[in-house]
Amino acid sequence: MSRTRTDNFPVLALRGRVLFPDINANLDVGRVESLSAIKAASERDSILFAVAQKNPERAEINPDELYLVGTVVRLKQVTRLPGNNIRISVQGLYRAVARAYELENGSYFATVDELVPVHTSPDLEEAYFRTSKSLMQDVAQTDSKISKDVIAALDICTEPDKFVNIAAHSLQLKFTEKQEILEMSRVVDRLERIDRVLNGELEISRLEKKINAMVRQSIEKNQKEYYLREQLKAIHTELGDDEEEREEFERKIKAKGMPAEVEEKALKELTRMSKMQPSSPESNVLRLYIEWILDTPWSEKTEDTEKLEDAVKILNDDHYGLEKIKERITEYLAVLKLTDGLNAPVLCLVGPPGVGKTSIATSVARALGRKFVRMSLGGVKDESEIRGHRKTYIGAMPGRIINGMKQAGTINPVFLLDEIDKLSSDMRGDPASALLEVLDPAQNSTFRDRYLEVPYDLSKVLFITTANDLGTIPRPLLDRMEIIELNGYTQEEKREIAKRYLIPKRRKANGIEEGKLTFDDEAIDEIITGYTMEAGVRSLERNIDAVCRKIAVKLAGSKKTKTNVTAASVEELLGARRYERDKQLEGDEVGAATGLAWTAVGGTTLTIEVSAMKGKGEILLTGKLGDVMKESARAAISYIRSNSQSYGLDVKQFENTDIHIHVPEGATPKDGPSAGITMATAILSAFTKKPVKKSVAMTGEITLRGKVLPIGGLKEKALAAYRIGVKDIIIPADNKKDLEEIPQNVREQLNFIPVTDVDAVFHSAIINL
Ligand code: ADP
Repeated sequence: MSRTRTDNFPVLALRGRVLFPDINANLDVGRVESLSAIKAASERDSILFAVAQKNPERAEINPDELYLVGTVVRLKQVTRLPGNNIRISVQGLYRAVARAYELENGSYFATVDELVPVHTSPDLEEAYFRTSKSLMQDVAQTDSKISKDVIAALDICTEPDKFVNIAAHSLQLKFTEKQEILEMSRVVDRLERIDRVLNGELEISRLEKKINAMVRQSIEKNQKEYYLREQLKAIHTELGDDEEEREEFERKIKAKGMPAEVEEKALKELTRMSKMQPSSPESNVLRLYIEWILDTPWSEKTEDTEKLEDAVKILNDDHYGLEKIKERITEYLAVLKLTDGLNAPVLCLVGPPGVGKTSIATSVARALGRKFVRMSLGGVKDESEIRGHRKTYIGAMPGRIINGMKQAGTINPVFLLDEIDKLSSDMRGDPASALLEVLDPAQNSTFRDRYLEVPYDLSKVLFITTANDLGTIPRPLLDRMEIIELNGYTQEEKREIAKRYLIPKRRKANGIEEGKLTFDDEAIDEIITGYTMEAGVRSLERNIDAVCRKIAVKLAGSKKTKTNVTAASVEELLGARRYERDKQLEGDEVGAATGLAWTAVGGTTLTIEVSAMKGKGEILLTGKLGDVMKESARAAISYIRSNSQSYGLDVKQFENTDIHIHVPEGATPKDGPSAGITMATAILSAFTKKPVKKSVAMTGEITLRGKVLPIGGLKEKALAAYRIGVKDIIIPADNKKDLEEIPQNVREQLNFIPVTDVDAVFHSAIINL
């Protein structure tokens, strides 16, 4: 430690501060010793020795408690403050070490030696200096507590020792640390220390920054939410809608008696909704959803009719005839009652239109005292029609099942699924499999509608389905159902249904009092045969309705109080006949045979005409011929050809003869193989030139080897034959079991000829074969 100068200065004792050379500082001074030291200095050269007390808490100055190393400062300004305090401004000059402290006239004086900086290794010094400078820049960037002036001064500073002084003064260090730096003489040590401090400082300010950012983020988020909520509240108030809607919904949800899971879901969506702007699309979606949940029955239920007899009476009162059907439904209701509806099979009513399928289903509902809903499946292609769309879809709604349940308003209605055979499927999912879930007791207690999102219990619903044709019902669905077939009605049955049900019903609907309108039996018959062509009674009902309307107008405009409709007045009321009576062949004819066909509107007769002309052995088919009928025609020709000898024909004849087969347009036969034997008969008659008996009609499928296979719809076909007055009906022997389905009065008047091969057909139908 080299000494350059020694001097004696008044001592300025510092409490908790250290002053450095090369800096300016302001100090407030109040202690008597300090004041007198300042006074002494100002009286001399204004120089003071500023040195820190070891214990800053201590008020009185004790030389033993002063550090030895301090800074010689110049007093630059003295300002009086209120009270006895003064503020001084000093400039640090150089470091010095006190040799001794003496008390003189109330203030301490120190004899001090100057401490000069010691330069040891210039390279290291330079290296430290550079890093310190750049560190200082970094710190300056982060720490705003260092003033711009200081930073600028440090930046331009070229002397390492001066740099240390300024830096140590400006940094927030404990005074003891500052004292340590002040006491160091080797510049390298001092720089190294500053370096460490700056690094530490930097680390702290990085942490500070991070913490600040985190704090700010959380504050910002809270503030943002708070702000938005306040805004929303303001909007609600502005729009005049407040909590009312939410509370109303909540009350309804809780009162509805829905399963816990559903209630929870509804309340959750309600909470979501109440947080949204009421006019926003999202809020509307949720409102609609909650309304759906509230409109869907979850616990509402009707009690079934107590006594089975009462139920059966209703069923009987509603329908004429249908004895077998009523019997089966009665059984079904009995089982339903015994098992409390558990695992009851789904009824499927099959038959042509207008035979009373819908009517029976409504009647079942009425008999049980349940609500009734009906949904047509005709043309339903898309699975989502059954299951609905997710509510996120624009305009989404639940599927038809849930729609039906809403309509019913109870969890146990009779639910009629109409035209289950008309379901179609395409790439948008398979509605049949969705329906399977609906009808399957093992699955339908947790039916999932995509819109509702919560499971719905369909197990209490009594499902009844209808179909025109069993053939097109998907197999798995068919297996789930108990099939009840309804056939068409005979003329007599139709007349009775008209008299007992349709006429009174239509009369009432048109506001005509009982007794004011009567129908002759012949009038009803005339309507049935001349204006309808059906297995059921739908078109009959429509025509009766048309008559009633006309009569209602007449009655209103005249003094007449009563009208009786006769056969003769029907044409006047309904216009010209639409259908001519089915005619049997005019007489025995060559190349024409009467077949019987089953169509969607019931049984019908069809005449098949064949002509054999000179030609090249070609086959021409015209008229209403489906592909299956064409196949039958070819099979018939092959059989006759290969057995030509037994019918006295020459095989060569087939090679130079063209065969023309025609089925007249008037009939609308269903494409089916049952015209096989009729075609064969007409063809053989054409070749042999022997006539077919006009009193014979026939139905049956033919194989290449001449076997006659059974057909469907015998009852319908028999009724059609009966209508045109045919007496003999050739039927496949395997169909004999179906004869009992035919009403007795009809059966008694017909002569059924069961056959197993086509040869028997030919011999029964062709004269003189
Ligand atoms: P489907 O559903 O088979 O097409 P509907 O049930 O609609 O036939 O019947 C058509 C009309 O005929 C209805 O007004 C129905 O009440 C009536 N009806 C059908 N069969 C009978 C019957 N056996 N007794 C009384 N009315 C009947």
